[in-house]
Amino acid sequence: MPLKIYKQKRNFKKTPEPSGKQLKTKKSKRIFVVQKHRASHLHYDFRLELGKVLLSWAVPKGPSKNSKIKRLAVHVEDHPVSYASFEGTIPEGEYGAGTVEIWDQGTWENVDKYPKKAYKSGNLTFILYGKKLTGAWKLIQLKNNPKNWLLFKIKNPQV
Ligand code: MN
Repeated sequence: MPLKIYKQKRNFKKTPEPSGKQLKTKKSKRIFVVQKHRASHLHYDFRLELGKVLLSWAVPKGPSKNSKIKRLAVHVEDHPVSYASFEGTIPEGEYGAGTVEIWDQGTWENVDKYPKKAYKSGNLTFILYGKKLTGAWKLIQLKNNPKNWLLFKIKNPQV
């Protein structure tokens, strides 16, 4: 039940967010999306499709295209793939209350031979094909606090 936490946090009678019914997606083109989320604190939700879900991180300052700047990306619960097209207002009192708008979207390609393994080991390298975000990026999990990862652009996608 990969979306258990996602579903536990939400009341789908009250929030317009997708309930997480699985949709079939083409494996060859994995999607990514960045959603600008004006919740109690503005942040950017960075999501990569992998397996049947969107792996998700909340990036308080948003991704930086400057490869010298590493941005904190707090790992959050997996979201359904259908969430990638969600925009709207989550009502007050509900989890994540506030507005959600798509800030960037596109597809991504793994640089790691085994992206699931790379994700589980906390070191993921990938190429983004978005409108705002392109090129090679990395997500690295911090050892001292496994919820915290760093998201940053790299110049050379050598694993
Ligand atoms: Mn969010």
